[in-house]
Amino acid sequence: MEITDISATKVSTESWGEFVEFPLVTVMSKYDEYTNAEGDNPQARRKWMGPVGDVVIEIETDADITGIGHGNWATGAIATIVDETLSKLIVGEDPREREKLWDIMYRATIPFGRKGAAIEAISAVDLALWDIAGKEADKPVYELLGGPVENEIDCYASNLHPVDFDKLEREALEYVNEGFDAMKLRFQYGPEAGRQGMKENEKVVETVRDAVGDDIKIAGDAYMGWTVRYAKKMTRRLERYDMEWVEEPVIPDDIDGYAEIREAAPMPISGGEHEFTRWGHKELLEREAVDILQPDVHRCGGLTELLRIDSIASSHGVPIIPHSGTNPHLHFIAASTNSPMAEYFPVPRWYKEQQEDKESTYSDAIYEHPPVAENGVIQLPEGVGLSSALNRNALDTYAIE
Ligand SMILES: [Mg+2]
Repeated sequence: MEITDISATKVSTESWGEFVEFPLVTVMSKYDEYTNAEGDNPQARRKWMGPVGDVVIEIETDADITGIGHGNWATGAIATIVDETLSKLIVGEDPREREKLWDIMYRATIPFGRKGAAIEAISAVDLALWDIAGKEADKPVYELLGGPVENEIDCYASNLHPVDFDKLEREALEYVNEGFDAMKLRFQYGPEAGRQGMKENEKVVETVRDAVGDDIKIAGDAYMGWTVRYAKKMTRRLERYDMEWVEEPVIPDDIDGYAEIREAAPMPISGGEHEFTRWGHKELLEREAVDILQPDVHRCGGLTELLRIDSIASSHGVPIIPHSGTNPHLHFIAASTNSPMAEYFPVPRWYKEQQEDKESTYSDAIYEHPPVAENGVIQLPEGVGLSSALNRNALDTYAIE
């Protein structure tokens, strides 16, 4: 088999629906113009996140099989790297030779790669190659990986946003009623909001814990918006709520800081969604920075690299709970003995009330079979390959030049 063509389609974030704005700690919160701490700066996140979106990679072959891969965030950069560099390396090659092609793409992009957009571009291409492998074998990719290890996939509900305390409480209860036994909230504040912000952060956790009782797992995400000192103090303060993990307390390059927080915190610390390749994740593991590793298959180097990261993580006794719950992640989780659950984004009830036509979140709109959780579990992903059948109407609607 031979690769005959590769194309990249950029997709607008409009396919994600509207950005909902509320106080939320992020890596940018230390700057007033990028924070919405007072609730008076509704476009705060748009200002630095925009114009992000998705990019769909399609690899055509002479066997009449097309592989689909997906990247996001650095949409334009990924499309450019695919068009200008990766296409030259892989068109004419055998798409089944994933190991060799990965290494060629990695080595050729070292001058501008290693972390960031180039690895995201390689990730999307690698996913398309796995999709081809599954389609050629007429099997779901999790079977090619030796799975499934379980017949359904546990997941946690990850859309617990602190819009306001009543909505938060109602949303948490809703998740329990829907059968979820694990959920993740977002913290609102970082160091710049001082002692009052700490109090508010605690109130978010307290509200959810009081609503759901003792039997439900609760995680919290700081989206890189804290400092080491703040994280140590905040996590101590949260000890009584028995949290499942606290996620991304500081920026990913502060590995020493991660290790210091992990040492001091009474609950597990997670990270890795902004880390790249086996070498980046190896560093997090060897320096004992995290209890739970959260690589993103669309970012870390694709499925080929995620499998390597999984091997290293399991040898450290660190489970992988991947960032975001796309179909490629579900295939991985279904075939790994080291990955206990998936992230899942239910559409929040308060959001549905505002946007009645909204039935999916994030990039789901451009795919035919987005993951669906029922009773807290997701069924094994449908179809051959990486379950990547595109919703062509949606893709046409949201594609951008
Ligand atoms: Mg996160």
